[in-house]
Amino acid sequence: MKYSSLVAEILTCEKCNLCKTRTQAVPGEGSLKAKIMFVGEGPGKQEDLKGTPFCGASGKLLDALLQSIDLKREDVYITNIVKCRPPNNRDPFDNEKDACSPFLNKQIEQINPLIIATLGRHSMNFFLPQLKISEMHGKPLRRKGQIYIPLYHPAVGLYRASMKEELLKDFQILKKVINKLEKEKTDNEHEEYKQFPLEEFFYQKAGTDRYKTNNS
Ligand code: URA
Repeated sequence: MKYSSLVAEILTCEKCNLCKTRTQAVPGEGSLKAKIMFVGEGPGKQEDLKGTPFCGASGKLLDALLQSIDLKREDVYITNIVKCRPPNNRDPFDNEKDACSPFLNKQIEQINPLIIATLGRHSMNFFLPQLKISEMHGKPLRRKGQIYIPLYHPAVGLYRASMKEELLKDFQILKKVINKLEKEKTDNEHEEYKQFPLEEFFYQKAGTDRYKTNNS
């Protein structure tokens, strides 16, 4: 399936009740060759009006965080777990996530990012159930050929300076992962990255308690 057909399907989807309250679906945006995919939870008010992910206040902070590691929106791909705004920004229900997840899976398949950066607890738990964001944020881990880096949702950094600091630190970790992967790049990229001793690298080199495992 072509990307444009996937977008068309998302825009006309009626698989769950969110289609009844949306202004428009928000498929995602960015480079289809992106090595990093950011996945938020679901569109908010501004996103629902404009059809673009993270275009409101959280999006401004996301842009600043990207800029802090010399990335622009055009370099990455940004989407959400659910493509339509839940009324009053409530958390999406399980049946809504289930209905929408084939779209996200197809986006991941088509873009095939090396790194999936989850934004917020709900996005992290979609891919990595049961993990706690307070324990896992900024800690890259590998699963099924992809590297995940759980990040706090930018919204939490809007009103709490300490959380913005955490986000900035975690984006620096993301940058280190990107740099490390860039260095190891070969034509056969994905095969090569499977060999990368990621956890060892971070837990040993970061040198702070936060990155130590329980048994280190
Ligand atoms: N919050 C999200 O999780 N996604 C958006 O697109 C906007 C705000």
